[in-house]
Amino acid sequence: MIILDTKEDYKNYINLLKSKGEIISLVPTMGNLHDGHLSLVEIAKKKSSKVITTIFINPLQFGKNEDFASYPRTMKQDIDKLKKHNCDILFAPKSKNEVFNNFDDLKNLKAGPKGNILCGKIRPGHFDGVLKVVYMLFQLTEPNLSVFGKKDFQQLYLIKQMAKKYFPKLKIISAPTIRTKNGLALSSRNLYLDKTSIRIAPLFYKILLDGIKNLKNSNNFEETIKYITANLEKNKFLVNYVSFMTTELEKLKLNTSERKILLSSVKLGQTRLIDNIEFN
Ligand code: AMP
Repeated sequence: MIILDTKEDYKNYINLLKSKGEIISLVPTMGNLHDGHLSLVEIAKKKSSKVITTIFINPLQFGKNEDFASYPRTMKQDIDKLKKHNCDILFAPKSKNEVFNNFDDLKNLKAGPKGNILCGKIRPGHFDGVLKVVYMLFQLTEPNLSVFGKKDFQQLYLIKQMAKKYFPKLKIISAPTIRTKNGLALSSRNLYLDKTSIRIAPLFYKILLDGIKNLKNSNNFEETIKYITANLEKNKFLVNYVSFMTTELEKLKLNTSERKILLSSVKLGQTRLIDNIEFN
């Protein structure tokens, strides 16, 4: 695996690959890699001839009181994992200047109304920061396709919209959420969970699944949201939101044939967990 940390080195290398007609895929991450990230590398591998993974902890997507400083940095282990999964190139920019050079271009890049609901409501500016870094990474790495996890469904949706507008030739691939055996969605932040929380955390997904069953019986969104919220609170989760929407992140009408999604964010101690389930 080739490891690069400056945009000059990266550009030289990518030009070489492009001149050979390679199909390039990009897997953007913030590191502390787990099997969820590695599943994206596997998918990318199947769909392209060269896989680039980026590791960059993007300061723009963290709020003032969030965990930018303490976000787990595990580069050595990450490199080992990527090598084992036959990643071709790791681009790990050594400073934010390697990514955000022409910052002025980004002033008008905003996530818009759908970036201000759900996670965007509890993390103001978060998705503007995400879109800025992803835009820069797309511009810099010049991929043919890029793979993102459905675990971060709102993020994936907003990236797809942004890519459609600014990078129309780029294909965005959605990857399923990888979970532990007991259902907890893998996340770099699970590392923050203490012993008690790690036992409780898998209930999050179970309670959401049970909520969908409840909806099928009640056919009433408000009642089901109350039911799920009460269940979560009973198990010590602090609920940020529980929401039923269409997969286009629009308000749901009763008895619609549109594809639906249940999205939720909770806090367990100091750790924020998010999850979602799509259904018909
Ligand atoms: P992050 O490092 O948290 O920014 O995540 C990088 C990419 O990995 C994003 O596209 C995430 O949606 C994806 N990802 C994170 N957790 C999972 C998971 N459990 N299963 C699949 N993809 C994931």
